[in-house]
Amino acid sequence: MVTTVMPTYGRIDIAFDRGEGSYLYATDGRRFLDFASGIATNSLGHAHPHLVKEIQDQAAKLMHVSNLYHIPEQQRLADRLVENSFAHTVFFCNSGAEAMEGALKLARKYHFAAGQTGRERVICCTRAFHGRTLATLSAGDNDKYREGFGPRPEGFDHVAFGNVNELRAAMGDDVAAIVIEPIQGEGGIFPADYKYMHALREAADEFGALLVFDEVQCGMGRSGKLWAYEWAGVAPDVMALAKGLGGGFPVGAVLASERAALGMVPGTHGSTYGGNPLACAAANAVLDVMLAPGFLDQVIARGDYLQAQLQSVVGRFPGFLEEVRGQALMVGMKTTAPNMDVWGRLREHGLLVVGAGDNAIRLLPPLTVSEAEIDEAVAAIAAVAGEMEAAA
Ligand SMILES: *Cc1c(COP(=O)(O)O)cnc(C)c1O
Repeated sequence: MVTTVMPTYGRIDIAFDRGEGSYLYATDGRRFLDFASGIATNSLGHAHPHLVKEIQDQAAKLMHVSNLYHIPEQQRLADRLVENSFAHTVFFCNSGAEAMEGALKLARKYHFAAGQTGRERVICCTRAFHGRTLATLSAGDNDKYREGFGPRPEGFDHVAFGNVNELRAAMGDDVAAIVIEPIQGEGGIFPADYKYMHALREAADEFGALLVFDEVQCGMGRSGKLWAYEWAGVAPDVMALAKGLGGGFPVGAVLASERAALGMVPGTHGSTYGGNPLACAAANAVLDVMLAPGFLDQVIARGDYLQAQLQSVVGRFPGFLEEVRGQALMVGMKTTAPNMDVWGRLREHGLLVVGAGDNAIRLLPPLTVSEAEIDEAVAAIAAVAGEMEAAA
């Protein structure tokens, strides 16, 4: 059957017409607690008053002009991202895949501009997810997503996530970049350990390659720091952002050090919508909230609370929950029952979550979530655990 919306998604049979904070309201009147946040995107929850106002004000003034001109909102956003990260310069785009595609192009172009032609190979990790464009599918590690889409863009090799020996064995003077998610998201919520992060930095420096972090999901405060890499104290040369950056408005970014951006001169890369005034007003509004004193400390405290509550559910229902892992409000629960079944049951209890690899359930609440809302979510999880353990 041909449908007017191309059926590329297996959709859940719910539609929403309103959101407020951590809650979503369905067209049939049901209310859900949203621990999916549009897949780590609604970082400030739904209808956050400051975000709404800044978008409304900007929409009434100017939405789009193209990158033929200077865009003051874009300049301001770039300044703030640079001021608060390792980076010296930012390219704006509209999605995570586009940000990773830009990061990969930048990395190869760096070596070309530095006179090192032939440095094109990219070392990626098992279980990685970097987006759905042809190049980002090559960087990712999911054969199912690649099937039938023809020849893969070449030059992407995969090594086991977390394994330093495999990484070092794959290095050479033809490597342009090492690409990694500091906390793997779609793969099942796997934080890279800090020693591994340091080993990545050392290998990149030793072999003259760039280190690229995909913080599309784990960045923008989700880990309790603005950037997940801060936990390890290891800075990349290039970083991709999207998801939480616009709080629900589509915007992505490629951040780079001055050195890494060597090749990105006028004419080398572009995006018509990238960094338009409206998208930048949204991202600036998100930063207003996240950079306010105490905001990220609260994310850490709420994350600790959520994970401690979940650990007690593991203790009570060891036959249902195998493990809880993650950083702050980026949490994975590995279940023994098929995660899709758990996902459905939680929905019946009014809790929205997301599936992930390794039979995990991802809990990605808004960063503004309250302790009472965490209690409500954990009660739903414990109720489902009780039902499913009893039925098993
Ligand atoms: C979601 C995601 C992407 C792709 O982002 P899109 O906006 O869907 O293109 C890339 N990398 C990571 C780590 C992601 O979680």
